[in-house]
Amino acid sequence: MANPGKLGVDVIINNISENPCCIHGPTILFERFHGNGQSRQFYACSACRDRRDCSFFHWADQKIANGKKDLWTKLIKESRQGKSHEAEYKRLEAIKALPASERSYCTSCSVLLGGTEKSSHTSCALIFPITNKQLSHPSTFLPPKESSKLEAQYLFTSNSVDVIIGMLQNLQASRVLCIGAPRIHEAITDTPQLNMVSLLMDIDDRYCSFFSPESCLRYNMFNHHFFDEEKAKNTYKQFITENENLVIVADPPFGGRMELLANDLNKIQNDWRIARGLESETELPVLFIFPYFMEPQVIANLPSYTMLDYQVDYDNHPLYSSGPKSMKNGSAVRVFVNQPRSLFPLPESEGYHFCKLCDRWVSISNKHCEKCNGCMSKDGRMYRHCDLCKKCNKPSWIHCSKCFRCQPQDHKCEVQAGQKLRCHVCGCSGHKRRDCPKRKVSDTTFSEEPKKKKKKKKNKSSYPQSLEEERERNMNIFS
Ligand code: SAH
Ligand code: ZN
Ligand code: ZN
Ligand code: ZN
Ligand code: ZN
Repeated sequence: MANPGKLGVDVIINNISENPCCIHGPTILFERFHGNGQSRQFYACSACRDRRDCSFFHWADQKIANGKKDLWTKLIKESRQGKSHEAEYKRLEAIKALPASERSYCTSCSVLLGGTEKSSHTSCALIFPITNKQLSHPSTFLPPKESSKLEAQYLFTSNSVDVIIGMLQNLQASRVLCIGAPRIHEAITDTPQLNMVSLLMDIDDRYCSFFSPESCLRYNMFNHHFFDEEKAKNTYKQFITENENLVIVADPPFGGRMELLANDLNKIQNDWRIARGLESETELPVLFIFPYFMEPQVIANLPSYTMLDYQVDYDNHPLYSSGPKSMKNGSAVRVFVNQPRSLFPLPESEGYHFCKLCDRWVSISNKHCEKCNGCMSKDGRMYRHCDLCKKCNKPSWIHCSKCFRCQPQDHKCEVQAGQKLRCHVCGCSGHKRRDCPKRKVSDTTFSEEPKKKKKKKKNKSSYPQSLEEERERNMNIFS
């Protein structure tokens, strides 16, 4: 962040549906800031943070050359020529009738195979047999796309699935929109006693092989784009229109831009209000799953939300789960809700308890602070009240006399203090760069397209090595 050439990028929320399209639907308008008070806007893919997953890039101040336009139209067309969801669903019905031993799944071609069909996949990676349980819970055997920045899949433990289902029951949900939450969708569709109907909306098209076109849609949650266009949009509209208790569960990739996720949730809320003829204040209940250290960004973009203390556990996430390799304080992931927190009892068997004063359930080490008048812990540890800061802080932090607040022991005073308060464009304090009076958009002196491969780091995995790194990255994105 000290490098003036690298001040990061803002998202511009405009009428997204009018932006040029890549194969993932309408692109997003971004604004890149340069240290000398200038900035320039460009369009890039909404879903892919890595240019290698989607190469769309276009400076907003330049005309799109015809050749480029044709190329993207062609790519979009090609990307739509995959399997039809109806046909896939028919195959599923036929394969369900076979015994488990005659079912297999080809992970190379992402297709379910029945009987002798596997003989034409001899050089592919096959999974077999496929039991009934696996057919209804594909997330248990589909290889998670962990390395891809596009889909980054981290799956709930069965215990966390139960807790989230319990939250849905407390909200008396009868319809659930599962956005990027296949395990919740699987649990609902396979448990008729719950009396809930679920619609999965996820960008991973492999799920379409296992669920009907009425219960599963390929969807991009960063631009509210339905890959099957009108048909899928109608399925979604119908689902949200019925006179039922609708609840949304969303577990987006954590590197995703919060502004876009909030914009998407607000769009769905709005669609729902219009479809049901509801007042603009009526809130569609949402369980939004995101790390605790993103709380400021979540609340800034979704002001009616609050964070629950429940630590969401993952089967395959080295950093966010509570296993041996994980964070010492357990998972960093929480559930954000736009309903009163008292509606969400948390499992006593895991040490959660009810705080009468706060009227909510909190974690075992979250002790009520009389001075703050609340249970102040965020990360699951017992926080310590600092009389100088007049608030509770992480137990390992110390009060720094240069920064005038509590900070991690190894922090760098000047850098952090200086950056926190100053506008990136003019260097003055009191406003953010977005509101800077000296801000100049679209200066063509920066005409070079960002290099495609050069800036790749050593660390190949899409997930950072530490939580601090993740936080740092998020700060860069959002500053
Ligand atoms: N914990 C969840 C899975 C969360 S992983 C569970 O166990 O059910 C994130 C999910 O979001 C994945 O299913 C992934 O395919 C999906 N996803 C990633 N990017 C997306 C996008 N742009 N739009 C919609 N879904 C997306
Ligand atoms: Zn794209
Ligand atoms: Zn306190
Ligand atoms: Zn302090
Ligand atoms: Zn300091």
